[in-house]
Amino acid sequence: MMQPSTFNVVIVGGGIAGLSAAWYLQREAQAAGSGLRYVLLEESNRWGGHILTEQVDTPAGRFIVEGGPDSFITQKPWGVQLARELGLGDRLLGTNDAMRKVFVLNRGKPTAMPDGVLLIVPTRLMPFVLSPLISPLGKLRMGLDLLIPPKRDGGDETLAEFVRRRLGAEALDKIAEPLLSGIYNSEAERQSLLATFPRFRDLEVKYGSLTRGMLASRRKGTKSAPSGNGHKPLSAFMSLRGGTGELVDALLARLTGELRLNTRIERLARGSEGSYTLVTAAGETLRADAVILAVPAFAAQALTRDLAPDVASQLGGIRYVSTGTISLAFRWRVLAWWRRPANAGRSMRLPGARSSSTTVRRRVLHCCVSSSAARAARSRWSWMTTRYWRPCGINFGSLWVSRQHRCSTASTAGSAPTRSTTWGIWSG
Ligand SMILES: Cc1cc2nc3c(=O)[nH]c(=O)nc-3n(C[C@H](O)[C@H](O)[C@H](O)COP(=O)(O)OP(=O)(O)OC[C@H]3O[C@@H](n4cnc5c(N)ncnc54)[C@H](O)[C@@H]3O)c2cc1C
Repeated sequence: MMQPSTFNVVIVGGGIAGLSAAWYLQREAQAAGSGLRYVLLEESNRWGGHILTEQVDTPAGRFIVEGGPDSFITQKPWGVQLARELGLGDRLLGTNDAMRKVFVLNRGKPTAMPDGVLLIVPTRLMPFVLSPLISPLGKLRMGLDLLIPPKRDGGDETLAEFVRRRLGAEALDKIAEPLLSGIYNSEAERQSLLATFPRFRDLEVKYGSLTRGMLASRRKGTKSAPSGNGHKPLSAFMSLRGGTGELVDALLARLTGELRLNTRIERLARGSEGSYTLVTAAGETLRADAVILAVPAFAAQALTRDLAPDVASQLGGIRYVSTGTISLAFRWRVLAWWRRPANAGRSMRLPGARSSSTTVRRRVLHCCVSSSAARAARSRWSWMTTRYWRPCGINFGSLWVSRQHRCSTASTAGSAPTRSTTWGIWSG
């Protein structure tokens, strides 16, 4: 039990946020030589929260399956920074440039995104002009981006409003929505531009047009994220050789505080002299000088309802949507379409989610990513991670291993997340 003379911190939630909070707290306290103590509490029986990496052993070798996140976007540098601090710098893994093509399902056919499209903006003329993805009128509309005056009032808008305003509706349907909404698992019509892609607004304001801004960035060599500290440039999405779970394992190996699984906090209240009291589901009472809530917003809302009703009400307004992954591993030799050089790509995006929310609900698959194609160094197997809205019985031919992982399902604030894992083995 904690001693009252030290400064006691309780961190609730053992996902990446709680684990990293513990790490930085520990590091700062050690540097300051303070007597801080912390307890990290997790309600489930494993650490990592949504991060779930599994090594699958088969007679033909081992490969990695990511049940949740499979990469960190390097425009936000903290994931890579944390990996390096934990000594995982040489485990960082970029994307495979030989498999850089992205396909969009267009009129029932996989159609390659034209070469030179940076995020949503074409930066090379000929591949864009020759691409069958966008109609001639749609291409002309995208060109108007060079003439349309920038929005300078600093106000937010949705990603959909931004793209429609600058590049037109077709660019939204066929490029922006399939490419960008998947990153945040949201609908472009509801996705805040300033919260998710503030760089687009910066480029618009600075260069007067998104296209000019992207071209200028490319000239400056900023399309790759800055590496910092003399490291070589990073790809836009990085992972670790053994999967994102390596981050969780490395943190756990370094944390020296008290770490407790199977401990759910049910109540948080003010104690005496500015302290806090936390009550676990088992009825144990903990005292803390400070509390860090590293839990989903709906869980934090429940815990702060009595303590800080205003905060709780704002937390309750944060919307959660369902997402999940199915991972399939195929023997490379059965993937005839994928093996053709013209089709060597890493993902297929399914557009149309924007047009109506019922389309989203009816759609089973949102996007499919060939994970081993995206990360060359990982495996001689090819396996696909398919993000989907809800599980259903699909007959996949030549299937070797299938795994369903459903998580983060909190479609309305307040509902509990559900998890399920199913393994099926078929010979291919
Ligand atoms: C399928 C999927 C794919 C994703 N892909 C990516 C990606 O490629 N890149 C990326 O950057 N992000 C991705 N994300 C998002 C990313 O996984 C999350 O943003 C991140 O893992 C959230 O971490 P967290 O620690 O904040 O929360 P969580 O991982 O949700 O952890 C919170 C923890 O708190 C615990 N908890 C809750 N309530 C209590 C309580 N009362 N008492 C004790 N413990 C409690 C929970 O059990 C949980 O373990 C993906 C998410 C999903 C679901």
